[in-house]
Amino acid sequence: MHKIPLYLQIVIALIVAVIVGVLLGAGQPILDKETIAHLALPSTLILKALRTLATPLIFLAILHTFLTAEIPSRSGRKLSILLITNTLVAIAIGLLVANVLRPGASGQSLAVIGGKQQAVKQLDPWGLISDLIPESILKPLVDNNVISLIFVALSFGIVLRAIKTEQVSRNQNQYLAIEQTIGLLFDAVIRILHWVIALVPFAVFGIVAKTIALQGFEPFKSLGAFVLSVIVALFLQAIYYLTRVKLGSWVSPRQFIQGGSDALITAFSTASSTATMPITFESLINKVGLRESSASLGALVGSNFNNDGTALYEAMSALFISQVLGRNLDLVQQIMVVLTSIVASVGAAGIPEAGLVTMTLVFSSVGLPLEYITILIAVDWFLDRCRTAINVMGDMTVSALVDGKHRQLKDEPIVAVQTEEL
Ligand code: ASP
Repeated sequence: MHKIPLYLQIVIALIVAVIVGVLLGAGQPILDKETIAHLALPSTLILKALRTLATPLIFLAILHTFLTAEIPSRSGRKLSILLITNTLVAIAIGLLVANVLRPGASGQSLAVIGGKQQAVKQLDPWGLISDLIPESILKPLVDNNVISLIFVALSFGIVLRAIKTEQVSRNQNQYLAIEQTIGLLFDAVIRILHWVIALVPFAVFGIVAKTIALQGFEPFKSLGAFVLSVIVALFLQAIYYLTRVKLGSWVSPRQFIQGGSDALITAFSTASSTATMPITFESLINKVGLRESSASLGALVGSNFNNDGTALYEAMSALFISQVLGRNLDLVQQIMVVLTSIVASVGAAGIPEAGLVTMTLVFSSVGLPLEYITILIAVDWFLDRCRTAINVMGDMTVSALVDGKHRQLKDEPIVAVQTEEL
């Protein structure tokens, strides 16, 4: 039997979910809320499984890359430059669209809604830095703390590679045992991942049907201008990515979208770039055809610092709320928005609605009242999906650009390598 591609299965699940959500009341649920909330159970389980796999995948993939691939010494610098330029462009697009379309200018009535106080969780930027170094080696694996896990994995990767290079030059091969073990474990994680990926359409169905049944489409009417502006800005960011991919890599935009469609649609459906990460990594290697080292740098290492969709959204939200309140932000304040949006997007974990938590940093920096973030919650479940897809597209773009203009079919085996600069 011909297998239906994953992205199509997810699209079908989305359509069926919208229909079921509408049949269940679309905002005025016909069953009690708890019963409807049970619809999300498969999705909770599947997303949990994806997040569980993300940590060993990151750890093993980074070690595997360091042990087996040729990483050009400039990759680290190239990666950082790409990450920061993409984020700056995203914020610039967000501010431009918000300044031109002024979605909050006619939304003064919303100012009243914001009055109802709700606790908003706050971001602690210093906590992020102190989290970088874990308390013990295994803690990041146990806590699923991706940033400190990358720190541990990079340290081990660099050291193991140096040891391998030394042994190769002395004609010794003790390193082979560990290299093979890591390779085997890595393959095992990928296989388990395939089982979970096959279940993703069920996750999508459950979560979307539940949200539509409980919330309906009402909030979209009052926040229509904002929703539309964010979509326009994210769309412009997507065009920017495709242009960069066309100019800076061997991948054609068409191949890029086709090969990455499973990842993009999973990102949209799950609203979690961390849960999507294993699928992004897989698609980049097997469908787009990138080298494992490029996919690993862009989609695993880079991904955690690269949330352009979130950065764009945070900057736009600050401008939107300031327009609703009739307080225009001057240039200096908009620069503050740029700087804090960068930090807030790096700090946003790749999980649903993480951007709302880190947005507190952006709002506080320019004196906007935090309660107004709650206005956005009503539409955030949808906009979160859109910005997560852009976050993942950003990771894919970085991976393609790191892969370069010339296609190499496989990672070349290492003979002697320099690792100092990475
Ligand atoms: N949900 C987003 C992600 O996983 C983060 C955010 O809330 O902006 O990438």
